[in-house]
This record gives sequence, structure tokens and C-alpha cells, in this order.
Amino acid sequence: MNFNELNISDNILKAITDMGFTEATEIQGKAIPAILSGSDIIGQSQTGTGKTAAFAIPILEKVDPTIKKPQVLVLCPTRELAVQVCNEFKKLTKYTSIKSAAVYGGEPIYRQISVLKRGVQVIIGTPGRLMDHMNRKTIKLEHVNSIILDEADEMLNMGFREDIETILNKIPNEIQTILFSATMPKSILDITHNYQSNPKLIKITRKELTTDTIDQRYYHVLEHHKLEVLKRLINVYNPKLSLIFCNTKRRVDEVTEILQENGYACDKIHGDMNQVVRLSVLNKFNKGVISILIATDVAARGLDIQNVEAVFNYDVPDNEEYYVHRIGRTGRAGKKGSSYTLVSKSETRRISNIIKYIKKDIPRKKIPSINKVNAVKIDTYIETLANTIDESADIGKYEGIISKLNDKGYSSDKIAIALLMSNLELQEENNKNLSYEITRRQSNFDGTRNRQPRGKRDNNNRGREKGMARLYLNIGKNHKVAVRDIVGAIAGESNIKGSSIGSIDMYDKYTFVEVPDKYANNVIDAMNKSRIKGKNVTMEVANTKKRR
Ligand code: ADP
Ligand code: MG
Repeated sequence: MNFNELNISDNILKAITDMGFTEATEIQGKAIPAILSGSDIIGQSQTGTGKTAAFAIPILEKVDPTIKKPQVLVLCPTRELAVQVCNEFKKLTKYTSIKSAAVYGGEPIYRQISVLKRGVQVIIGTPGRLMDHMNRKTIKLEHVNSIILDEADEMLNMGFREDIETILNKIPNEIQTILFSATMPKSILDITHNYQSNPKLIKITRKELTTDTIDQRYYHVLEHHKLEVLKRLINVYNPKLSLIFCNTKRRVDEVTEILQENGYACDKIHGDMNQVVRLSVLNKFNKGVISILIATDVAARGLDIQNVEAVFNYDVPDNEEYYVHRIGRTGRAGKKGSSYTLVSKSETRRISNIIKYIKKDIPRKKIPSINKVNAVKIDTYIETLANTIDESADIGKYEGIISKLNDKGYSSDKIAIALLMSNLELQEENNKNLSYEITRRQSNFDGTRNRQPRGKRDNNNRGREKGMARLYLNIGKNHKVAVRDIVGAIAGESNIKGSSIGSIDMYDKYTFVEVPDKYANNVIDAMNKSRIKGKNVTMEVANTKKRR
């Protein structure tokens, strides 16, 4: 459908053309007239199908530019998304006098207040900061006549619901309430009547919840080999821009640190970081200054970054909706993308639940071998080298070096091989098994019988091998200790066999050690009383509690 047929005013149509949109997407074609008609709306369509413009375009038609007061509220679950949605509003209002502003935590409030003072009709914000402005009376709601919840299922989830209710209760007028998301679990649909009257459900139905522009696959990976597998996948598929999701902030820190040490151009985003840094990292990723962004679910919803070619789930998300949103950062607006999910033994059940939920089979693939990684490296190298040879004009300075070496008795072939060896790092194939197979018994064992109710599950030890506890130790490479010092100290202090200690992951400032569950408490007690290389140590159960 053409935007011309949708009763949109000329100034906004002109902006839409500037944005490069020629035809309305399906959700836009249906939602725009429905919102213009004034009814409450629940809009659902797959990730990357243009839901932002689907609500922004019609809602702007209803704004009275002569009233310089907030008339539309848009609520988003993350600060980054609020900034992005605000930018989309700003593009659409380019030829009008309507003003939009983003309000979100982590940015000095006075800066937002000075923008608000100039008169803003559309406020896009995160609930906490919006309430803050309401309390300070720097945002007044008397002219508000519509509210939009982007990522509505998340906004009506327990974490945000109370805030949303507080905001809604403070709006004095009858308002139009608009909900949009790619996922709408029944539990949320069941409560929307509390917030809407006679809503129109606009659902662009597909059999699958995920778009067919994403090539999805998963791998069975032993937990302690996940980093190795991640690196192999990055090296083989070599995506220009990719996002790696982990389930916890600490896992994000670990993966980022190791990838940076290995020379990958990457950075991270999670909730413990300063907001200025978060936005600048995202900016660097948007511009391609870094090619890999490692993130918690804070980046899972709504973010629209051009040309993300791949999404890696380093951990399987706990919640099926989040799988849809995470991988939905690629394959947007008709472009192609891939997703790679690393599934450890304890996550096998979760991936089968996801497959059921999205109603699409995800094929399991074999982990690429070292030979495969080498072959890809060689191909790329040959291509670059061939380009250099073809394009080199001034080779005189270098030719002399070859003849000097020839004079010393080295053949040109030998010289070339030596250069290759110092330029191209190839690994030996070791045929190490990084994967696992599950037997029928294990798959039952992993399954429902063994499953504790949500919330009661042992979150603290997620990611460890079965029967092992993952412990955090406040000593790492920077303290000039080696793995053997740590094994020695644990074995010596707590009288357990060195051979019973599982994987040890050492970082600059700390180390994770796996020990059999039954010894965990003894080991912690013994270690907390001891020193390693003269340094007092603290050891505790690795806290991977889920917070973004
Ligand atoms: P969603 O909210 O459904 O995940 P977005 O609103 O973030 O999707 O839009 C995804 C991408 O599609 C954005 O880059 C946006 O600019 C682009 N887009 C939106 N509408 C159109 C359209 N009608 N034609 C072409 N591209 C569009
Ligand atoms: Mg969106």
C-alpha cells in the first residue's frame, strides 16, 4: 500500500519520502487508519516490520502544533530505545513545528528540563524518569490524549506494570491507548482490558513468530568450550556487524574481555554501565567503529541497527519471548541475517521450548572444525593478498629485499612461506570434542520431572557443568598467579584432589573455578581463610543472578 492512500498530511508524507520509505508495510497499512479512527489498538507484527512508524505517523496527525504542551506519551523499556524512537519522531516531524523529546534515566535531569521548557508535544521516555518529571511538574499531563506502549508485553510485565498504572492514573483525560509488540503472550493479552476499552487487535499473522529473513541455527556446546566455539563461528562466518547476547552482566564482562584480548573490535553494553558510555558504545556500533557488540537483554528489544548480520546467543535466553526479540535485531526490514545459539547441556530443554514457541524448527548444526576455520582464514588471506599484488604500483623498495635474500641462498618460495607464517596464524587441528550428544534418558532428566518452579530454580549457578559449582575468586592474571597456583591452593587448603577441580577460567582481575557441588562449601570456607602468593583471597559462589 502507498502512503498517499492513508490520509496523511503533506508535511509528514514529505518526511516519509525523505526517510526512503516508498510503500507502507503491512502493519503500517492496517494500523495507520485504525489509529486515525481513534480506537484503542493492540498491534502485533514480527520484528523489524516498521511498528514505530505504524504508531508514530497517525499519532502525529492528532497533535495540535499550536498547543505547546505534551499531548502524546510513548513509553519504552530501555533508555536506548527511547532515544531511537524519539529520533524517528524527529525525522517524521521535520517539516512541522511539532517537537519531541526523550526523557530517560542516567542523563542529567536539568538538561531534559531545559528542552521541555521550550514546549514539547511528544514525550518518549522510560517510566522511571517520566514519573520523576511528573513529580517535579516539569511534565504536565492535562493535554495528553494518547499513550503508546512500545514493546507493550514488556511494559505490562511485572517489572513495569506498577509504574505504568501510576502514570495512567495521573492522566486526567480520556485517552487513546495503543500497544505494540512482536510478542503478545496470552497472560498479557488477558489483562489489556484493564487499560483499554474495546481495543482493535491488529495482528499480522504468520505461522512463525520469527521472520523468515533470519537463518537460525543452534549448536550443542559443552559449557566450558563456549568461548572457543563462539570464536570459531565468528571466524568462519565473519559477519560485518554482530550482536552477542549473554544472560548476565558478568558473562558479558567475561566474553568482552576475552574477545578484546583476542583482538576482536568489540565492546559491551549492560545495566551496570554509565549511561553516557552505553550510548557512546551503541553509537560506535551503529557507525561500525566496533563490529561486535556484547550485551545483556538491555539490547534485546526494539533496537534498530542497520546491517547487523548476525546475532549470537552465547546463552539461551530463559524466556522464549526474549529469543524472538534478540534474534530480531537482525533480518530487519526485509534484509537477511543469521542467528547462532550456543546450547549447553543444561540449556537443552530451553531450546526445545523455544522451537515450540516460535513454531519453526531450528536446525542443529555441527561446530566448525579448526580445519574449516583455517580454510576460511586462508581464503580471505589469499583474496586480500591478491588485491595487494594487483594494486601495488610502487614495488621497487621491496624488490631489492627479495634479491638480497636470494643472494643469501633463500629461494623466493621459502621467503614467501616465511612471510605467510608470520602473517597468517593457523591452528593445528586437534579434533577436540566441543559438543555433546544427549541420550533419551538425559533428555528426560533435563526435562519437566527435574524442573523446579520458576523463581525457585538455582539461578546462582547457571552455566556450570552438572554436579559442579562455579565459584568466584578475587584473584586473576594481574596478580601474577597461574592456574596451577590456584589448583594447588584449593587442593592444599581444602583437602580435595586437584583432579576433581573442573574448569578454571582466569581473567585479569578474577577467576572462576568449578568444583564438585558437594565440596563447594568446604572449599569456600578454606579459601577465605587462606592467601595465594601473599594476597588475601575471597571466594564465593559465582553470582550470575539475572539483572540486565
Ligand atoms: P519494529 O518496531 O517492527 O521492530 P522498526 O519500526 O524499528 O521495526 O523498523 C525497522 C526498520 O524498517 C527501520 O530501519 C525503519 O526505518 C524501516 N522501515 C519502517 N517502515 C518502513 C517502510 N515503510 N519502508 C521501508 N523501510 C521501513
Ligand atoms: Mg519496535
